[in-house]
Amino acid sequence: MDINDSLPGSPGAYALLLHLAKEISLKVGSLGIHRFPEGLFVYIGSAMGPGGVRARVQRHLRPETEKRPHWHIDRLTALTEIRAVWWLTGKTNIECQWASALEKIGTRTPPKFGASDCRCPGHLIYLGKTGVEELAWSITNEMATITPGRICLNQSSA
Ligand SMILES: [Zn+2]
Repeated sequence: MDINDSLPGSPGAYALLLHLAKEISLKVGSLGIHRFPEGLFVYIGSAMGPGGVRARVQRHLRPETEKRPHWHIDRLTALTEIRAVWWLTGKTNIECQWASALEKIGTRTPPKFGASDCRCPGHLIYLGKTGVEELAWSITNEMATITPGRICLNQSSA
């Protein structure tokens, strides 16, 4: 299965599993410079505009040179590999609740990453260096505590 397969063109929330091959320090807009440890991160966002989840995830997959950096996550997707994407269509804003649920299996860092427009502590969660398959399963389970049985998942075949 390709990570792009059957992404919906309608609005919704999504989560990205990102792999960072080696530790980096990165300036993230107004948040300043932060250290990002090697390993896996999950980022939670929403795509309520035209093109919905499909347009947003395809933007995340494009090389940095082909887009003007806009969100905090744009700096990180340039340096990481997207290994999986989850989504749930609908106009309900559940991304802050997903982020909160995922804190059970990781650590929010840096504070307020991806959360300029909401009041929660951040939408990026560091999960350590555990295997992708095992983490994908845990992520699905934690998000399902908020939205039972409704989440879709694509994993990269690489
Ligand atoms: Zn939030």
